[in-house]
Amino acid sequence: MVSRIPNDIFQFSTVSALMAGLCTSGPLAHQLTGYGTHGLGTCSALNGEVLFLDSVAYHITTSPSKKSSSQSMTQGAADDQEALNDAARGLDPVIKKAARDAMMPFVQVTLFRPEFRLPLPLPQSKTLSKSSLLNTLSSPPRSPGGPLPPADLKGTTGGQNSFLPFLIRGTFADMTIRIGGPIKDDSESLAQVTARAPQWRIKGAKGTIFGFLSPAWSNGISVAGFHGHFIEDEGQGARRGGHVLDFVVGEGEGRVEWGVSGHHHLGLPRGEEWESLELGVDAEGIAKAEG
Ligand SMILES: [Zn+2]
Repeated sequence: MVSRIPNDIFQFSTVSALMAGLCTSGPLAHQLTGYGTHGLGTCSALNGEVLFLDSVAYHITTSPSKKSSSQSMTQGAADDQEALNDAARGLDPVIKKAARDAMMPFVQVTLFRPEFRLPLPLPQSKTLSKSSLLNTLSSPPRSPGGPLPPADLKGTTGGQNSFLPFLIRGTFADMTIRIGGPIKDDSESLAQVTARAPQWRIKGAKGTIFGFLSPAWSNGISVAGFHGHFIEDEGQGARRGGHVLDFVVGEGEGRVEWGVSGHHHLGLPRGEEWESLELGVDAEGIAKAEG
């Protein structure tokens, strides 16, 4: 057991290594609880998206849609889910608990203890979206009666040079998600996998995004800016989830909470494959694959 300070980040491997094709081995799903309670990652062979929430690792993949195409055109359930590319047609997201021995070639985990919290919808009719998240957390709107952020911590709720683990619970008016992988063979890169990954637009989904805002200086180690994974609450239909490409929070009640990481612990792969990688930072490629 490592010593755990709340909101410290424990990470295995780097996004650049993943981009360069090192995607086979890493920590196992059941080991994540030794490092924290919340996190995100991917599985071996870039198979799907992993969301680690309240000490449970969820593995998000796809399966052939149970709805026939004629049903999905007419039934209400399809109204709030739109396939955004050919790859998504005929597929649905599937959320399962990760197998204990599921291996993660890239993962970031933290013992999430939010230091700050804002109620949703935000005060003063401000909108919370992917593009406004960093600004909102760095300069939270004052909420009359809202307990956080405390006045004495004004100015230290985050910023462009810190890692900010965050969680958003609520109803999402609009969200774009994608589910990547697995790779077809060893020659397929992360960029190619994500370019052909199914994408959906979903509306009115209620659930949880957990992720990290990472500083620009960490690009290549982490994903600079927003990186979040989503799962929908359990309800009548199948739960949706995936890597969040975009979101806007809706009217329903919810909350956004976050902390500021004091330490970033980086575990590195070992072996010949790792040593042979050319690890330049492909900022444009990362933005396309993970942004
Ligand atoms: Zn992701």
